[in-house]
Amino acid sequence: MKKRVLITGGAGFLGSHLCDRYINEGCKVIAMDNLSTGSIKNIEHLMPLADFEFHNYDVTKFVHVKGELDYILHFASPASPIDYLKMPIPTLKVGALGTHNLLGLAKSKKARMLIASTSEVYGDPLVHPQNEDYWGNVNPVGPRGVYDEAKRFQEAITMAYHTFHGLETRIVRIFNTYGPRMRLNDGRALPAFISQALRGEDITVFGDGSQTRSFTYVDDLVEGIYRLLLSDYVNPVNLGNTEEITIKEFGKEIVRLTRSKSKLIFQDLPEDDPKQRKPDITRAKEVLNWQPKFTRAEGLKPTLEYFKNAVLG
Ligand code: UDP
Repeated sequence: MKKRVLITGGAGFLGSHLCDRYINEGCKVIAMDNLSTGSIKNIEHLMPLADFEFHNYDVTKFVHVKGELDYILHFASPASPIDYLKMPIPTLKVGALGTHNLLGLAKSKKARMLIASTSEVYGDPLVHPQNEDYWGNVNPVGPRGVYDEAKRFQEAITMAYHTFHGLETRIVRIFNTYGPRMRLNDGRALPAFISQALRGEDITVFGDGSQTRSFTYVDDLVEGIYRLLLSDYVNPVNLGNTEEITIKEFGKEIVRLTRSKSKLIFQDLPEDDPKQRKPDITRAKEVLNWQPKFTRAEGLKPTLEYFKNAVLG
């Protein structure tokens, strides 16, 4: 029998790549998305398949799915700082109410549930690199609070369903991830820099650009999630690349790779912008035998191709 998988946020960047993966693994995939940040374009190629179904639905309302479910992957949420500023309450609701609805669905279907958590649970971290035992440094009432606290609540309620109801649950903490199908204008550094470089516009570095990030190629992330879902490990697992770079250096790298004439300009640093971020992936290595395979140079190649088509047509 084919495994039946529900993927929320299935029309989003990560969700659509997960839909591809589970279809390729021979599963029946039911994607759900309210298209607030996702796009049908990301899943257009799957629409004709008999094993793929799409529901335009908001999971903050009671979720009903016909038939059995083996797995639920909850990836619905606005996921960039600009998105949470525009949609603070939907961000809180999908992380809290949406997760509660899906946990209830998982319980009634006896399905295994994996939730997409984030390195944002570490806030502006005082420990570097971040391992899963670090509890974080989050400002609940700052601009990122709606996302960070929703994701922290999501982890808490997921663990409660595991301990209290015996539900099979998995928690992945995702670090900055990039690749084809990323939205061009969600305000994130990578799509902003690539679009600016391709158009010959100034590269907008926030602050002095000394803050760091570690960028993971989407195929690596999907492989890690696939392994985590099949594992029997219930505590949170970091998935991310450990190659750390300052945002200023990253801006220069994009200019170089696109052979652009763009110049870096410096703008105000947004409030509560984490100064450094790099995952400790010891746990993923031990539990999942996983580590990233793509260097930034390798991952940026297909990403730049995607952006060239999307930005320049
Ligand atoms: N950033 C930047 N210029 C931009 C967009 C973002 O310098 O046009 C910075 C942002 O302030 C942060 C880093 O790049 O320090 C990564 O930002 P992103 O929004 O990609 O993700 P975050 O890790 O902050 O959620």
